[in-house]
Amino acid sequence: MTDYPNVMLVNHPLVQHKLTLLRDRRTPTAQFRQLAREISLLLAYEVTRPLPLEMVEIDTPLERMQAPRLAGKKLCFVSILRAGNGILDGMLDLVPSARVGHIGMYRDHATLRPVQYYVKLPEDVQDRLVVVVDPMLATGNSACAAVVLLKNAGVTQIRFACLIAAPEGLRVFGAGHPDVPVFTGGIDRGLDERGYIHPGLGDAGDRLFGTK
Ligand code: URA
Repeated sequence: MTDYPNVMLVNHPLVQHKLTLLRDRRTPTAQFRQLAREISLLLAYEVTRPLPLEMVEIDTPLERMQAPRLAGKKLCFVSILRAGNGILDGMLDLVPSARVGHIGMYRDHATLRPVQYYVKLPEDVQDRLVVVVDPMLATGNSACAAVVLLKNAGVTQIRFACLIAAPEGLRVFGAGHPDVPVFTGGIDRGLDERGYIHPGLGDAGDRLFGTK
């Protein structure tokens, strides 16, 4: 845990090492994408810890045994477009059978408020553990809006995963949704006037998709 209630810093050495490579401005698009995928797989390992298990009977080549397997409805990842897709793939590498929802939001550059333009969620999303993914928790406004939308859809078990968070965003998100744990690879110094996290990694969407 961290100084922020309900925020888990995933400080595994592999996450920290890969995050340093990701932040470096010289890292080219293909490597950036690969690193984001690898880090998010490692984040998914922590985020999925509460998944319930049930015992089933199986036959090994040597004998019959009771063995654990995941119980109940599967997980759902919800990606906040577009940058969320850059960490969705790594999560799906670890949990290939998870369902996926998308929430399209962009940030109005004048107000820094999220504007929603697209929503597609699994029909039974309310029965699933939902992990919302977005690489950067900056102002916290998009993350809060996405979680409000999910709660309005009846979802009761929500977690949030990001590569890097800003203290300002963690405070906003924690105040709005103290019931939603946050998993992050780093907590940076703070936001600039344009809403970018410093030192950060720049614009995650542009770096993932090579659009700038
Ligand atoms: N979104 C980004 O892509 N980068 C930031 O630093 C903040 C929000």
